Amino acid sequence: MAVGRAEMGDGKMTLNKQTGNMYPWVMYTWNAIRGECPHECLYCYMRRFKVGKLRLDEKCLNDNLSEGNFIFIGSSTDMWAEQVPSEWILKVLEHCQNFNNTYFFQTKNPERFLDFIPEFPVNVYLGTTIESNVHYPTITKAPSPEERMMVMSHINKPKMVSIEPILEFDLEELTTYIEAISPEFVSIGADSRGHNLPEPSSEKVKMLITELKKFTEVKIKKNLRRLM
Ligand code: SF4
Repeated sequence: MAVGRAEMGDGKMTLNKQTGNMYPWVMYTWNAIRGECPHECLYCYMRRFKVGKLRLDEKCLNDNLSEGNFIFIGSSTDMWAEQVPSEWILKVLEHCQNFNNTYFFQTKNPERFLDFIPEFPVNVYLGTTIESNVHYPTITKAPSPEERMMVMSHINKPKMVSIEPILEFDLEELTTYIEAISPEFVSIGADSRGHNLPEPSSEKVKMLITELKKFTEVKIKKNLRRLM
């Protein structure tokens, strides 16, 4: 993800403009909680950077988030990982509530969403990553896709699913997982940086897209072209 600082409202530097390959529908990112992500996914784009310890940057809580934006909160680490103190998450959510935007939160540990349901801003999308129905513990330390699916299927908020980087999967089972979550839309992308991941064939990717389109919107990212 490439970002640039944006001046908002009173000219105070606050939000990061989303200009990279992450999600074209996200206008800005804002990362008050940052640092090494406990999930340690092999393919994480943040592994290239020295990000330091997991922490809440209290200075960010003075940021002006303006209004009318679509903001991805916590794009640089999984702020919903078990290791993140609840107090930090609450401070972030309280700050978001002060500004009239649409907020997007994404995690591989959606169980943590459940602790904060009353605290989410009114306009929110909750997302999870389901790279495959198969659990690959050597690729990520996050909870399994099945656990993520089970929790997300019980959350009654607008939801999305990110299938990225797409990993080898079972078509019927993965489709069942996504349908159980009942997302507003699904975003599908592939590994952009040659991490030598187990990947599905072009034919399987196309079949998955066909099946998903039967019950949700499918947004295809440019980096999926390599597999199609
Ligand atoms: S959960 Fe997200 S931020 Fe954390 S290591 Fe994995 S890809 Fe990176």
